[in-house]
Amino acid sequence: MKIPFVDIQRSHKAIHNEVMAAIQNVISRGDFILGKDVELFENEFSKFCSVKYAVGVSSGTEALHLALRACGIGSGDEVITAANTFIATVLAISYSGAKPILADVDPDTFNIDADALKKLITPKTKAIIPVHLYGHPANMDAIMDIAKKHNLRLIEDACQAHGALYKGKPIGSFGDAACFSFYPAKNLGAFGDGGIVVTNEAEIFSNLMLLRNYGSRKKYEHDIKGFNSRLDTLQAAILRIKFKYIEKWNTLRKEAAELYNKMLSGSCCELPPQDKSSRHVYHLYVIRSKQRDKLREYLKENGVDTGIHYPIPVHLCGAFLDLGYKKGDFPVTEKYANEILSLPMFPGITEKEISFVSELINKFKN
Ligand SMILES: *Cc1c(COP(=O)(O)O)cnc(C)c1O
Repeated sequence: MKIPFVDIQRSHKAIHNEVMAAIQNVISRGDFILGKDVELFENEFSKFCSVKYAVGVSSGTEALHLALRACGIGSGDEVITAANTFIATVLAISYSGAKPILADVDPDTFNIDADALKKLITPKTKAIIPVHLYGHPANMDAIMDIAKKHNLRLIEDACQAHGALYKGKPIGSFGDAACFSFYPAKNLGAFGDGGIVVTNEAEIFSNLMLLRNYGSRKKYEHDIKGFNSRLDTLQAAILRIKFKYIEKWNTLRKEAAELYNKMLSGSCCELPPQDKSSRHVYHLYVIRSKQRDKLREYLKENGVDTGIHYPIPVHLCGAFLDLGYKKGDFPVTEKYANEILSLPMFPGITEKEISFVSELINKFKN
């Protein structure tokens, strides 16, 4: 058996005709830039997050970058985020002109450690970006307390957490702003790049509308130096179709995760956290093994593709050596980088496939 790490085609098959009709509609109307579907999708997505406003942008990275700018963050400021995130979170902080400050993560949840975070606050700290890594909500009660106490902006990196809940409330509704990616393999993915920022604040919303569109409110009147960072109408039209299935697809991910949990319960691997007060949407199903590289190779030899998210922590990447961190600065992040393994996870993965992967892992122990 050959089992891919992700197979987007499986969820696309059932919606092919609907998507093609939506694409055809955009082509017929010709409103490719900031067309009708962008605004309709923004309205639908803001409701989904229980917030007032949403602004479609060109990627999750741009969502984070522009959200920081819309909150007034820039040169001279410090922004704290998790050390084990995808590099885009940290790149976005750099793009804004602010300095990224990394915090190690809680070994139980893989998300930013609130105590580590507290210790990093200086007079220059202006914002915190918790990352809901793998689709598991960060510890928002503790993080919101810290943000409130120190008067810091809170921006959620929800790029892996579409539809996740924390204590019954949607991820995306906790921060001053929250950022989502529509990279094709995300829980809600476009047919290309895309992203969105959601917020309850009118001022952040109006800043974002300018920032994504050359700093212009009215054609050829440019109030600030903005960017060309819009969500394409074609992508918005495709996303509106796919959006109707997000709950179903998240449920399929959860069912797949529960099956893995059951079948791997006796294995030598550590299974993902299951915080009862949250709804994990399993963008990734990540186990830990002391023999990760051997296990990965063994699975590969048996036809199973896996991933590592992420093999080189941001502070050890060439791009961020200038931050001055060194090996040993983030012990949990560094330890996990050698142990984590993302198993095949996508809507439409079959029980047979999950059994096949799980049996291989259980055998590997012996
Ligand atoms: C995917 C991702 C991003 C970036 O999103 P893009 O749309 O690829 O730019 C940022 N942060 C996290 C945690 C992500 O997973």
